[in-house]
Amino acid sequence: MPYPVVHVLFFMLCIGAVAVYAIFGSFFRREISHRNTMQIVLLLFVGGFCSLFPDIIIVYSLLANGTMEHCWVGSVPTHSLLFSASAILFGTVTGYAVYKNFKKAAYLGLFAEAAFLSHLLLDEVFDVGFFYLYPVYNGPIRVSSMLDISIRGAGVFDYLLASFLSVFFICLVLMMALFALNQFGFEFKYKPEK
Ligand SMILES: [Zn+2]
Repeated sequence: MPYPVVHVLFFMLCIGAVAVYAIFGSFFRREISHRNTMQIVLLLFVGGFCSLFPDIIIVYSLLANGTMEHCWVGSVPTHSLLFSASAILFGTVTGYAVYKNFKKAAYLGLFAEAAFLSHLLLDEVFDVGFFYLYPVYNGPIRVSSMLDISIRGAGVFDYLLASFLSVFFICLVLMMALFALNQFGFEFKYKPEK
């Protein structure tokens, strides 16, 4: 499993590459005010913290049991879509506390969810899979292994379905981060030549 700093950097620099690109451009053009800086710090805080959320229970396990257990809270797997609701809640409550605006709070919740899911994407490269769909489906799913499915072994339909679902999941995480960042002023759009 990657170390915490890798999770934070992966989310900030890879999933949030558009923000890094925009911040550097605006910084050199001296377009960033104090208020903008506070918003960037807020995004860094929520994104960075939520990219560690699936492993956060390790703190409790260390204090309470002296173990490094971090994948379960009772019967609920921490690396699952169900547990990701806690990241959405954290982002939304933080967003509302700062902006006093439901729309902006929801966008920050979405950004927090993208950060949480980026943790799962990185973790599962080194794991056998996670209980993403708990409690609907109680088995491990590994999205990255679906990218490598054989057309001869699986058949055309399963091959196409697995390819679409795995790439769509990665695309979904990226799109969630892009959409949320766009709502906070980060733009990257096509400008047709005139
Ligand atoms: Zn993890």
